[in-house]
Amino acid sequence: MFRRILIANRGEIALRIMRACHELGVETVCVFSEEDRGAGFLELADRVICIGGAAPRDSYLKSDRIIAAAEVTGADAVHPGYGFLAENAAFAEKCRACNIEFIGPSADAMRLLGDKAAARTLAKKVKVPVVPGSDGVLEDEAETVRVAGRIGFPLLIKAVAGGGGRGMRIVRDKGGLSTAVRQAAQEAEGAFGSGALYIEKYLERPRHVEVQIMADNHGGVVHLGERDCTLQRRHQKLLEESPSPCIDSRTRKDLCAAAVKLTRVAGYSSAGTVEFLVDGKGKYYFIEVNTRIQVEHPVTEMTTEIDLIKTQIKVATGEPLEFNQRSVHPRGHAIECRVNAEDPDADFRPCAGFIEKFRPPGGFGVRVETYGHENCRVSPHYDSLLAKVVVCQTTRTEALSCMQRCLQEFTIEPIKTTLPFLRKVISHPNFVNAKHDTGFVERTF
Ligand code: ADP
Repeated sequence: MFRRILIANRGEIALRIMRACHELGVETVCVFSEEDRGAGFLELADRVICIGGAAPRDSYLKSDRIIAAAEVTGADAVHPGYGFLAENAAFAEKCRACNIEFIGPSADAMRLLGDKAAARTLAKKVKVPVVPGSDGVLEDEAETVRVAGRIGFPLLIKAVAGGGGRGMRIVRDKGGLSTAVRQAAQEAEGAFGSGALYIEKYLERPRHVEVQIMADNHGGVVHLGERDCTLQRRHQKLLEESPSPCIDSRTRKDLCAAAVKLTRVAGYSSAGTVEFLVDGKGKYYFIEVNTRIQVEHPVTEMTTEIDLIKTQIKVATGEPLEFNQRSVHPRGHAIECRVNAEDPDADFRPCAGFIEKFRPPGGFGVRVETYGHENCRVSPHYDSLLAKVVVCQTTRTEALSCMQRCLQEFTIEPIKTTLPFLRKVISHPNFVNAKHDTGFVERTF
């Protein structure tokens, strides 16, 4: 086992990782930016070390400083969490070159599956269905027009390096094509340092269903069931649940098998997520792989009773998985709501500031992952995710009433949060009856 792990992240996921480390008897080092100096989440770390200024590019994205921090503090591994450097293959390589284990897949597997165009090509090769679209990266305008003509409108321009919905544009007709391509390339270049694009047919009213994979370095690849992340706003997840209320057992089996196949051929290890869109007829299409732990991982932990972070750490030391496909039996129904520091009445504008009153919910089958507390500061520099409320109950109906009760109980003042919005959305009959799709929130609220 590692002696000391450096956490290259902040907020709720830093806390989540520190807790797993301490249960494994591993010491923790947490890096922080000037902006996060004195933040509550740092109090759990055995050591903390400042790595630069508030802007992520001056601190949490500074790979050399993070590696130097690991060396100075004697950390023998780095956990990147999600976001920041979590899907940066060059960072993983640099860590390992310095004899510091990167807790995640190999750099090769990250490149193969993290590049969305490369992942599509691989999926096609192993006969996992993909959304109709371009073969690889778009070379020039002539090719873009040709591909668009072949697959038809509406279509979606997507960034190869994309994430968080950035670099993505819906195009309804030929007239809008070249502007959309230009804007998407610019946005992707700014956000990811690569303006490479590809095209997919824009599926109308799909559901988002993803499969959690866990793999070791000895050929063990196990799926831990699916999560339904259809409830989104502007292609950003608001709520995740497992099992999916909108697929039958046949589709579930096929999706999970496809996810295992794809990760196995990529030589993948650690936690990963294979994402699919499912249409109204139950036809599914691969869209992308996230080569890291995801925000919504607790949903799967609640139904499988497997600690994904501890498993990632153990796998990184070279241990084989402690479970196999036959020993995994997801149980009950889990739901996660993302509580963001945003004002739903002002177009979800991020709301930074001081929290004076903070009273999280509790009770049977309830888990809250948050860095929030009384007198806590919410920084405008980082992601607005403030808390995740996760519940697990026997049935979806019970899980929904438990979640509604939790969202009522949760008090965060005076900053604005998405709590009132979530309460409204989860009581809407179309969501309660699982008749929603990825565009439901925009159309209804
Ligand atoms: P990102 O990595 O930027 O989050 P994804 O490829 O994961 O992008 O897609 C995010 C969301 O965008 C999906 O959950 C879905 O709602 C929507 N989306 C992506 N591809 C398509 C598509 N081809 N047709 C319709 N919606 C799509």
